[in-house]
Amino acid sequence: MKIIDIRATTVTVPLEAPLRHANGCHWGRFVRTVVEVETDDGLIGLGEMGGGGESAESVFRAMKSYLVGHDPARLEEMRFLIANPTASLYNNRTQILAAIEFACLDILGQKWGVPVCDILGGRLQDRVPFASYLFFRYSNHHDGSGEVRTIDQLVAHARELKKRYGFTSHKMKGGVFAPEYELECYRAVAAALDGDRFRFDPNGVWSAETAIWFGQQIEDLRNDYLEDPVFGMNGMRRVREKVRMPLATNTVVVNFEQLAANVLDMAVDVILLDTTFWGGIRQCIKAAGVCETFQLGVAVHSSGELGIQLATMLHLGAVIPNLSFAADAHYHHLTDDIIEGGKMSYENGSIAVPARPGLGVKLDREKLAEYAELYRRLGSYPYDQDPLRPGWTPTIPNNRWADPNDERRPIL
Ligand SMILES: [Mg+2]
Repeated sequence: MKIIDIRATTVTVPLEAPLRHANGCHWGRFVRTVVEVETDDGLIGLGEMGGGGESAESVFRAMKSYLVGHDPARLEEMRFLIANPTASLYNNRTQILAAIEFACLDILGQKWGVPVCDILGGRLQDRVPFASYLFFRYSNHHDGSGEVRTIDQLVAHARELKKRYGFTSHKMKGGVFAPEYELECYRAVAAALDGDRFRFDPNGVWSAETAIWFGQQIEDLRNDYLEDPVFGMNGMRRVREKVRMPLATNTVVVNFEQLAANVLDMAVDVILLDTTFWGGIRQCIKAAGVCETFQLGVAVHSSGELGIQLATMLHLGAVIPNLSFAADAHYHHLTDDIIEGGKMSYENGSIAVPARPGLGVKLDREKLAEYAELYRRLGSYPYDQDPLRPGWTPTIPNNRWADPNDERRPIL
């Protein structure tokens, strides 16, 4: 079997409302590049890549000369072909490798008549549990709905997500407002959903001192972990000395060098594996093996997925024995998807691992065309900027917080 073509289509799919985060905002939609890898026996494998509000179409076009004629089963060779460590100093292609790996695994699963998780060791569970993902949100500029800014709005939003999807673990994304205000917010959610589990993630924008203070204020709650309170392993190490709860990261341990450094001088307890950041599902499984050996916790990170990437997260979650936390997903903030059958559904806070051969998802061509057209109309957006704070720079540590009394809504 040989690869004969690679196609990429940029789509933008609306969110219920703009999601605010420490470094900016998802401006009311995700921009994703959908990748199709076609083989000489007529199979088409699907991949997906993010890119912080921008299209990645051109890089996949450039990869065609590398990959046409290549056997999609030779995945380990492909790792060096696309992203060998020295060449990666010039062109960081880790996420491109990931999207191509997803598509090749999808092809192999279809060819062999098995779901991807069966190629990767076999499923240990049929459903993967997810955490709610609570964001501060601007209101939707079309109808004014969806704002999450006040404590009451946040608690109501958390209750609503729990009721609709059945989540029992709740992740709150902070780093937007002053830590004192966000502490009140987090404690209010924990009080409202007593008995559930909680995690907080300010995306690494606090100083070590702020992180230590915040961590100590929440030690009495049922925390899964405190995620990336500061940026950098040395800072994490300082916080870990003074705060009595596990620390987690999806930013400072995203490759094997960093994982080794963390094992040799522990800074982080729980590693959030991202199928794109690590360069594919298989790299994540390897990393989970290292974590198993050193008894580090493992969770699944979300980088803002549509259904194709969500499928990779489900197949990953199905096969790793040490997945000890609910996975993250932005997925429920989306209004639609580009896969056949529409959005995958949650039940009791979990999503079923696809059972059909390959990744188990197919493109809905009409939806793909609809959201590709929407991208052509709206274009990219700067993920690391806040639409209502022109001129603001997300420094680390940050001390210029947004104002929770600011009721404006951006016209996007
Ligand atoms: Mg995070």
